[in-house]
Amino acid sequence: MRNHRRSPLAIICLITLLAAHVSASVQVEDVRLWRAPDHTRVVLDLSGPTTHKVLELANPSRLVLDVSDASLAGALTDLPLDGTPIARVRSGIREGQDLRVVFDLSADVNPKSFQLAPNERTGHRLVLDLFDAETSKQPVIAAPKKTVKKADTRRPVVVAIDAGHGGEDPGASGPKKLREKHVVLQIANRLKSKFDTSSQFRPVMIRTGDYYITHKGRRDLARKNQADLFISIHADAFTHPSANGASVYALSTRGATSTMAQFLADKENAADLVGGVAVSDMDDVLAGVLTDLSMTGTLDSSLSVGADVLGEMGKVAPRLHKTKVEQAAFLVLKSPDIPSILVETGFISNPKESSLLATPTYQDKMASAIFRGVQRWFKSNPPPGTVFARSSSGERLTERTVKVVRGDTLSGIAAKYAVSVDELMRSNSLASKTIKVGQVLIIPESG
Ligand SMILES: [Zn+2]
Repeated sequence: MRNHRRSPLAIICLITLLAAHVSASVQVEDVRLWRAPDHTRVVLDLSGPTTHKVLELANPSRLVLDVSDASLAGALTDLPLDGTPIARVRSGIREGQDLRVVFDLSADVNPKSFQLAPNERTGHRLVLDLFDAETSKQPVIAAPKKTVKKADTRRPVVVAIDAGHGGEDPGASGPKKLREKHVVLQIANRLKSKFDTSSQFRPVMIRTGDYYITHKGRRDLARKNQADLFISIHADAFTHPSANGASVYALSTRGATSTMAQFLADKENAADLVGGVAVSDMDDVLAGVLTDLSMTGTLDSSLSVGADVLGEMGKVAPRLHKTKVEQAAFLVLKSPDIPSILVETGFISNPKESSLLATPTYQDKMASAIFRGVQRWFKSNPPPGTVFARSSSGERLTERTVKVVRGDTLSGIAAKYAVSVDELMRSNSLASKTIKVGQVLIIPESG
């Protein structure tokens, strides 16, 4: 009798407790959104693992994301939807305990979704990638120039500029919440404009905004654009804030040349985990040994272009971390046929270097140094068929000139074209630094 009197209540209590527990089992703590040139990424931060389903519905076109046993902690109103195929996002609870998020679409997309286990920097995540229908198969940044004059088959040297990290992966952080992903994109943009001023080069930006690209994706984009050189730009952190100095890295097919090189390679290689890459698309982090023999020649080139870049950086950086190019197994440098270097512009964890790295002046100095190093190297190592190849066989390079406009100064023009004021004065036989509006100046090849 005792049992009969207690059981129904106990069961009801148990059911209520279970229900309460189940309906709150997974919290969606935050929803973030990143726009890339070929897709839109939505990331849900979860309090734990769950199951989910994606449904595509027509008339009107929309995408439904059902997350089991979940509830939404915040609002969905602050998502940056501009430039995305998503017109509106709304949410509701389905069957008492499932979270339903509805994306109203303004263009066709190919969705892909996956969940990620926690890592050092993030918790459980659910990633929804909406690939733009037209470009989902061929994410090409810029079509290579096909038309050349019949008499002139020389082509510019293609330089792939890779700003590290992006989107979900902020990279390292410095004082005042300075983020590596922002600093390196700024330096990369400045470097691009240096190359843009020279007809000898065609720069290609691997990352153009705040979104993540896998290591493999970065290498693929460089190859698709037939790059002659790949430069990955970083500003990493170390455990000790005192660590400082700029450095240049090339791939190692054996071990790392120092513990710092190993430390940085490990950290960079883990970026795919932070950036949010489906396990099936992940580069093999354990692939330390490279069997492709063509690597050897490529590696020699990487080391020698790296040395020229490091030499120029030494003239503008307060200090170099190491005076020679270091090596470690960086996944992003693993292209077998494209010389590839990773430039650490400084330690963002060092208070002094962090504040330098944030200034336009220093960013510009770094970009000029990298540009000069690269230009110097291609002059002595011209790839066949490029403007450099022709010039070394005696033919004169296309002369660059610039017309002075109001507000120009000699030092300003020198900085813009990455040449020294002395060189500029010499090649124009100038006796003083005074220039006149309308005057035409010859821009010398630096180095
Ligand atoms: Zn980095």
